[in-house]
Amino acid sequence: MDFDYIIVGAGSAGCVLANRLSASGRHRVLLLEAGPKDRYPWLHIPIGYAKTMFHPRYNWCYDTEPDPGMNGRSIYWPRGKVLGGSSAINGLIYVRGQREDYDHWATLGNRGWSWDDVLPYFIRSERNQRGADDFHGDRGPQGVSDVDRPNTLARAFIASCIEAGYPANDDFNGASQEGAGPYQLITWKGRRCSSATGYLKPARKRRNLTVETNAHVCRLEFSGARADTVVYRQHGQEKRALARREIILSAGALQSPQLLQLSGIGDAALLKAHGVEVLRHRPGVGQNLQDHLQVRVIHRCNQPLTTNDDMRSWWRQLRMGMQYVFQRSGPMAVGINQAGAFLKTRVELDRPDIQFHFAALSADLPGAPLHDFSGFTSSVCQLRPSSRGHLEITSADPFAKPAMHPGYLSTEQDQQAIVAALRVARRIAAQPALAHYIVDEYKPGLSLERDDELLEFARDTGVTIFHPSGTCRMGADDDAVVDCTLKVRGVAGLRVVDCSIMPTLVSGNTHAPAVMIAEKASDLILADADD
Ligand SMILES: Cc1cc2nc3c(=O)[nH]c(=O)nc-3n(C[C@H](O)[C@H](O)[C@H](O)COP(=O)(O)OP(=O)(O)OC[C@H]3O[C@@H](n4cnc5c(N)ncnc54)[C@H](O)[C@@H]3O)c2cc1C
Repeated sequence: MDFDYIIVGAGSAGCVLANRLSASGRHRVLLLEAGPKDRYPWLHIPIGYAKTMFHPRYNWCYDTEPDPGMNGRSIYWPRGKVLGGSSAINGLIYVRGQREDYDHWATLGNRGWSWDDVLPYFIRSERNQRGADDFHGDRGPQGVSDVDRPNTLARAFIASCIEAGYPANDDFNGASQEGAGPYQLITWKGRRCSSATGYLKPARKRRNLTVETNAHVCRLEFSGARADTVVYRQHGQEKRALARREIILSAGALQSPQLLQLSGIGDAALLKAHGVEVLRHRPGVGQNLQDHLQVRVIHRCNQPLTTNDDMRSWWRQLRMGMQYVFQRSGPMAVGINQAGAFLKTRVELDRPDIQFHFAALSADLPGAPLHDFSGFTSSVCQLRPSSRGHLEITSADPFAKPAMHPGYLSTEQDQQAIVAALRVARRIAAQPALAHYIVDEYKPGLSLERDDELLEFARDTGVTIFHPSGTCRMGADDDAVVDCTLKVRGVAGLRVVDCSIMPTLVSGNTHAPAVMIAEKASDLILADADD
C-alpha cells in the first residue's frame, strides 16, 4: 500500500485529481472514497435528484446545529457519499461565478487565482454542447448541455424578468453573468455527467490508479511535520496507505476541515478538549464557513403545467418514462431548475448580487413530496453573503459528524439583501408573462408585506442551496489554512483541494468552481513533481 499520491474523497474535485495525476502513467495514485460505487441508476438519470436527496446510502444526510439566524432551526445539509461525491446528487446547474470573484481572490494575495488565471481551467474541463469559443471548451471531460425544450413556465419566468427591465442572457458563463435565461446543465446525452462519469470512468483502467470505495478515512499520520500515512476503515478493518509524495484532502468543505482537526491540525483548545494530540495550532481550520441561503417564493398555478401535475398523473409519468427511454429527452433528462437569473437588487450595484433558480414544481422543502396543487417556485439567494459560520469536531471519533454552525443571516447587510431579493421575486411575478399563470402567491403570501415580516419569513423557511465552502481558507496571511498552491501551512506533504479552500464564496453554484480548483491544483502538483 504505497503510492505517490493519495487523494481523500472522490467528489467533484477528487475525481478530477485522480484523472489528471494518473494520466502520464508515471505516478501511482490511490483514491479513497467513503461511499460506494455509483451503480444506483437514479444517480445517472437527471431527475433522480429527488431520489438521492435523503438516501442514506449515497448521502451523508447532515443536519446543522440549531441556527439563531434561522430562528433556531437545524438545516438539512445533504452531501454526496458515493463516487462523484456531491456532483453525483446535485441539481446539475453549470455556473462558474463572476470574473470579480476570482479577481477578488487574487487581490487577497492569492497569486494565480485571478479570472484570467482560472478561465483556462474552466475551458480545459468543459465539453460544451454549444461548441468552443473564447469562454468555452468542447473537448474536456465535463459534459455541459442545454435544457432541451424548456418548460412553458420556465420560459414565462425569463420573459417576466425581461418585462421587469432585466437583461436577457442565454449564457451565464459567457462575457457577462447578468440577466435572465436558461441554465446549462452537467448532463451529456440525457445523463448526468458527474465528476465520476466525466473524469474517473475514463481513467479507471489505468494500472497506476487504484480506487477504493467504502473506505472511510479516519485520520492522517505524520513523520515529523510531513504527512505520509492515511488511516482508513474499510469493511470493518483498519487499513493504512503510505504517500511518498503527497496526501490531498478532497473530502469537501465539511469533511476536509474535520479530517485536519482529527489529525491534530486545528484550534489547540478544541483538539485537546476532544483528546486529539495537537500537531499544529491552526485556529482557522473550520472557520470562514459560507453558504448560499435560498428563500423560496411559491405561486399557485392556474394551469396543469407543473411537475406537480405530471407526478399526479400515471399516463404523464408513463409518457415521461417513454420519452426518456426511447429519446433520452423530456422532463427526466433535465434538472429541476431549468431557468434562472443573476440580478441586481439595486441599480447602482456594479454586478448581480442575487440569483434565482426557477422550478416548475413546488414542495415545502427541496426533495420533499410535491404539493397536491399546481405550483411553481422562484428560489432566490444572495450571492455574496457577509455572514460567516464555523464547524468543529465534537469528538475524536471519525464517524461522528462535525457540529456545523452556518451563521445564516447574522449580518444586517445579509438581512437587508434577502428582503430586497424577495421584493424582486414579487416584482418579476407581477409582470404579464408570469402573472398570466398565477392564481396567488402561496408563500410567503401577500399578507406579509413589511420588511420585518419578510425577514421573519426568510428565517422561518430559508434552507441551504447546498454550497457550503471556505472552511480551509486559502490566503497569504498567517491565519489562512492553505497557501495559494493549496499546501496546508505549517506541515509538508499535504494539500486541500475542494470547495473548502475558497476564501470567499463565488457568485453562483459551486460544482464548476470545484472542478476548476482541482484542474488547477493538478498542474501545481505535477509541476512540483517535475522539480
Ligand atoms: C443536493 C445538492 C444540490 C446541489 N446543486 C448544485 C448545482 O445544481 N450546481 C452546482 O454547481 N453545485 C451544486 N451543488 C454543490 C456542488 O455539488 C458541491 O459544491 C461540489 O460538488 C463540492 O465538491 P467537493 O469536491 O468540494 O466535495 P464533494 O463533491 O462533496 O466530495 C467530497 C467527497 O469526499 C468524500 N468523503 C468525505 N469524507 C470522507 C472520508 N472521511 N473518507 C473518505 N471519503 C470522504 C465524500 O463521500 C465525497 O464523495 C449541490 C450540492 C448538493 C448536495
